[in-house]
Amino acid sequence: MICLSSTAGSPDGALRQLRRDAAHLDLFELRADFFAELQSEGSNQHRGEAGDGEVGADLAGAVNWGRRLSELAAEARSDWRALRPEAAALGIILTIRRAADGGRYQGDEGFRLLVLEEALRSGGFDYLDLEEDLLGSDAERSVVAAASSAGATIIRSYHAPDGISAELPHRAARAATRENEIPKLAVHADGSAAFLRIIEAGEALQSVRRIVIAMGPYGVAGRILAPRLGSFLTYCSSDDGRQAAPGHLTPEVLAGMYRYHELTERTAVFAVIGDPVLHSRSPEFHNPVFRSQKLDAVYLPLQLDDLSALPALADRLGLQGVSITIPHKSGVRRLLSNAEPAVEAIAACNTAIRGPEDAWYGYNTDLHGFLAPLAEFFGGAEGAQHAPAAQETRGPDLTGVRCTVIGAGGAARAVVYGLLLYGADVLILNRTVARAEALAAELGEQLETVPPRCAALEPAADALVREYRDLLVQTTSIGMEPEVEADPLPFYEFCGSEVAYDIVYTPPETTWLRRARRAGCRVIGGNAMFEGQARAQSALFLTRINELHQHGAGQ
Ligand code: NAP
Repeated sequence: MICLSSTAGSPDGALRQLRRDAAHLDLFELRADFFAELQSEGSNQHRGEAGDGEVGADLAGAVNWGRRLSELAAEARSDWRALRPEAAALGIILTIRRAADGGRYQGDEGFRLLVLEEALRSGGFDYLDLEEDLLGSDAERSVVAAASSAGATIIRSYHAPDGISAELPHRAARAATRENEIPKLAVHADGSAAFLRIIEAGEALQSVRRIVIAMGPYGVAGRILAPRLGSFLTYCSSDDGRQAAPGHLTPEVLAGMYRYHELTERTAVFAVIGDPVLHSRSPEFHNPVFRSQKLDAVYLPLQLDDLSALPALADRLGLQGVSITIPHKSGVRRLLSNAEPAVEAIAACNTAIRGPEDAWYGYNTDLHGFLAPLAEFFGGAEGAQHAPAAQETRGPDLTGVRCTVIGAGGAARAVVYGLLLYGADVLILNRTVARAEALAAELGEQLETVPPRCAALEPAADALVREYRDLLVQTTSIGMEPEVEADPLPFYEFCGSEVAYDIVYTPPETTWLRRARRAGCRVIGGNAMFEGQARAQSALFLTRINELHQHGAGQ
């Protein structure tokens, strides 16, 4: 179930958030700790007690807030009915999260508990979020009694916003002490190993209903796959700039992009792994393909700082295939059982697919993506766009084509390899010439061909570029956002007959590419390569999904 945590500073704002996202929700968590008035009243109570001892104000203020929250719950329910008459009843959770647990409430604890008790007595709540450290205390007894008479279920929460501590197993076990409560773990994951430990701590709870959340970017995949990890809900925040907790997605993204309500144990899961990875455009490419082909499959971002956590995470999340991005393209090769030849030649793998007996097979579709758009200009690549893997690609005919490659980094490896593979004569220009020379020597030897020429990326190279200008390929990060005005080849004047190819895709047309187009050149932007590699990846994913269907195994 998708639960929206309100983050508005006022009751009206919270209702507005519910109304805006109602279409995608099953549950609504009223996060009253975000209410500015409640925060200040709680803090004033605190000062009153410590200072002049006006304890009487506690009760009246708390009763007042309890009633307001109950009225708010009733209003939320009636809005919901009007907006979604066909839907099941909206479940409402009441929460006043303490600052120490990652919330906003810093006021008096007695006042907080009184507000919760009064709200429950006044009615309207299905669940109450109550902390594990209060278990069995005098302070919580009347709150628990009020929840019980109101028929509200207690979510017994353990929060660790600073990450895993030695206390985790003990605190998790305590949260699961009472059978009629729902234990909840919300622990910050400072890396992939921590994400895995949080999943394991959740599994150890063994409660039929539980909530397990790894907060922060390393746990986002777990929020999307919450049911698979045994969590009966996933929390999210409205798209208005405030997150209730780090790593929250919006309801629209969860329900739309990731089809949260359709995910089951049998859904084939794919992911892009990298660090960072949440900015990746790949989910926007692959999920619509799955949706349009009515496939029970999802593609999500899995932020990964440590490759050694990947096998266990792949098993827990049910991964069937992954896209691999910076910084794991090289390191991931040690986890593969087999790979197409280009993976070793380029020393980079950007796609891995699970096969029989859980063996993983590696591919490099960047190579395919780079080559695919060249077919239009240099012919010979019929069918290349749909080739399932780079090794089956029939490439463009580059025999005798003279090319300059700007840059000698990771992406240039695939570019130079592809150009040499299909017969081009290559010049590499790089700021660090030694890096270009090493690349040239290595690929020349591997392909048993004449190694590319190399030169420094500076004005003295102008004459050389004129010799190698049938195709110019720009592979450095120069001109990429945010430094969009930068030009990697400012000393070179285009003559207009060149094909200019910039693999940078943010912005879609770089300053350098615009200059080439205006000079009359035919141009290729980085999106063409990105989409080419994604199409080849998609073909590999679809093959894997077909295999799963044929074996009828799901996962
Ligand atoms: P990388 O391995 O870090 O290599 C960066 C290259 O840029 C090196 O040749 C480096 O020269 C050069 N460089 C960086 N800053 C420079 C500067 N200020 N002046 C001169 N040279 C500079 O990066 P990468 O993985 O190859 O990625 C490069 C670009 O390709 C990125 O913008 C990336 O987004 C893009 N890309 C696009 C696609 C696609 O599908 N369209 C795929 C992969 C990559 P030195 O060797 O001297 O440091």
